[in-house]
Amino acid sequence: MCDILIKNAYVVTMDPAGRVIQDGAIAIEGNRILDVGPSKEISASYNAREEIDTHDMIALPGFINAHTHIAMCVISRIGRELKDRLYRVYWPMERAWIPEDCYKASLMGAAEALLFGTTCIVDHYFFMEEIAKATIELGIRGFLGHTIMTEDGPWVGRAEFEEGVNFVKRWKGKHPLVIPCLAPHAPDTVSPGWLMELKEIANEQNVKIHMHLSQSMREVRKVKGPWGRGARSPVDLLHRLKVLGPDLIAAHCIYIDEYDLKLLSQTGTNVVYCPSTYALGGTYASADKMMKSGIRVLIGTDARPADMIGELRAAAMTQRQLTGDPSAMSSKDLLRMATIEAAKALGLEDKLGSIERGKLADLILVSMKKPHMNPRFDPCANIVYNALGSDVDTAIVDGKVVVRQGSLTRCDMGSVVKLGREAAEALTQRAIEIDSNLRQLIEGSHPP
Ligand SMILES: [Zn+2]
Repeated sequence: MCDILIKNAYVVTMDPAGRVIQDGAIAIEGNRILDVGPSKEISASYNAREEIDTHDMIALPGFINAHTHIAMCVISRIGRELKDRLYRVYWPMERAWIPEDCYKASLMGAAEALLFGTTCIVDHYFFMEEIAKATIELGIRGFLGHTIMTEDGPWVGRAEFEEGVNFVKRWKGKHPLVIPCLAPHAPDTVSPGWLMELKEIANEQNVKIHMHLSQSMREVRKVKGPWGRGARSPVDLLHRLKVLGPDLIAAHCIYIDEYDLKLLSQTGTNVVYCPSTYALGGTYASADKMMKSGIRVLIGTDARPADMIGELRAAAMTQRQLTGDPSAMSSKDLLRMATIEAAKALGLEDKLGSIERGKLADLILVSMKKPHMNPRFDPCANIVYNALGSDVDTAIVDGKVVVRQGSLTRCDMGSVVKLGREAAEALTQRAIEIDSNLRQLIEGSHPP
């Protein structure tokens, strides 16, 4: 007996052998994968309370979006064509957040993630308590850290530091869907002293650190000045502070040189590549080169959770343009980066990232029924080169079906969007009251 039996699927397991089962089935009991194998064999072995006959779908581990700020779904479209958008639009707007709006925006962000097949978000933001509430409500897994900044940003100071640490203490082991981590913002906004303190706390609490690294020239310049205490770059600063290493998830690493690359590789630091964000902002990161230097590279969308399948395709396109090599970042590499490699970086490879017996049941079904997915060939290539986020039919997180036939099961999508719009409206109004310069930027992004 099992709770859910998924049958007649093209199962891409992402297990160590890279097994793909053409007519496969998956048995789920509680929140775990009980068994996976050929449909005939598994169907004969288990009676299920619920059967999902996929007919023509690819089953694969749910995507792990390794760097996002889901509440930003209500901000991220503003000032899209501006230079230094982070400093000119995001930070001034983020000053206007109140917890209630952050919660509403996060519900819409979590819905966006799930509908596109992301079953785990690695989120870094202010008001993380509200985001945790929203993720639990919609049933998505969250690797969550409350943003800590010493200076410069919208929410800074010791109270935020304490909240970042308390968030970890409050949530550790409390809920199966929430895995807390520490989230200092970046080397230019968190003082070296605080970074050392946070590293000590991360060791004590046995949690990971998720932060931005080498994301702007402004950061590089500040770290090269007195702030960086003699460090030659943001990567070098983190190395001197002993923050680099396998317990660090570092988003971006755009402005790095050969020396930095070596430090990242030698220390086993995990780097998150967010291709659309860079391409739309007119910059790039050498992700293929990082991989070839032995660095574990993951995929994130930054800002809003967006479509992970689209992000995988953007990763392939940008790296091939950059290297001139059509084999750079293969579809298999990309799917690994968005699943099992991400799970390893989070220290959760025994629980997430592949469809294997005993692992948590976090998986998705992607339809192959439409013309663009046919003819059927290598399913990994089909996902990366042809699929659309909207082909995600089903998402299962912790053994629960949270998306069925392209619709959320926990909430009505219309109500979630309504709340997201309300949050956007309230936030922009307050932001303009605080800083009237924002009016033109915001209204320019939302013409009446
Ligand atoms: Zn970010």
